[in-house]
Amino acid sequence: MIGTARDLLLQHWQEEKRIASHFSRIMRTRIWLSFGVPLFYALFSPHLEAALAVFAVLAAGWIVRREFVSLRRRVLGEFTQQLDRTDAPELWGILDQLQDQMGIQAAEVSVIVSTRNYGDSPSVIDVEGRPRLVVPLGFFKMLGRAPGAAKAMLAHELAHVVQHDTKLWLLATAYLKGLKLIFLPFTIFAFLAVSLTSVMWMLGNKEQPEYTRSSLPTSQEGLRTRNEKADVITQPILAGLQILLLLAFARGVRQMRNRSEQAADLAAVIFLGG
Ligand SMILES: [Zn+2]
Repeated sequence: MIGTARDLLLQHWQEEKRIASHFSRIMRTRIWLSFGVPLFYALFSPHLEAALAVFAVLAAGWIVRREFVSLRRRVLGEFTQQLDRTDAPELWGILDQLQDQMGIQAAEVSVIVSTRNYGDSPSVIDVEGRPRLVVPLGFFKMLGRAPGAAKAMLAHELAHVVQHDTKLWLLATAYLKGLKLIFLPFTIFAFLAVSLTSVMWMLGNKEQPEYTRSSLPTSQEGLRTRNEKADVITQPILAGLQILLLLAFARGVRQMRNRSEQAADLAAVIFLGG
């Protein structure tokens, strides 16, 4: 039973490279759209919202970058240390066995000890194209007391390496933060602002006598009113669509993660037996 499940999982991993690059393309498209749509809007809108849109894009860009850098620093900062093969032979023994079973190139993954972290959950991160397993101090205690659980955790993390999740997640996490902190609040604010403007315009326009609105459509006055009329309808719709788009993006990132986590958990169960 476990043997069959293992074959299926290994077969599934054959496809992983293609799936990962597909996800990576989707992620990049989302990022470009999130930044591009407000900028595109700003380019064609002579109003105050344009300046706000540019500001939101810059702020989101700054947050995504800062988050990206700080996530990397957290695992590769001054309180980390490269683990040599002679340092913890039992850990390397399990890793070698798992890498062999999971079809990971020998010695592809390097190990970093996080000396300030007393938790027991390891994690993986990709730095300059090379996966690194980050092991907190507490994990070594676990390795002695509950080697089975420790091995399952390593299998889970190595599954992320096989699935190429390490390359994507840093970016995905940073992007999700930019989405939540800047893009979504800004878009909701923009939606409320343009909706309010539209309602005010409609109310104000109703009070005007009929002839000032419809007479002489070729005059400057009539033309402006027609443009405004188009604006009050399209702007709330566009802002509403942008909100839906961003919510769909956030959901997509979460789905991508859930899918990877489930496969990694499956791997933990399958490769625990040795
Ligand atoms: Zn995981």
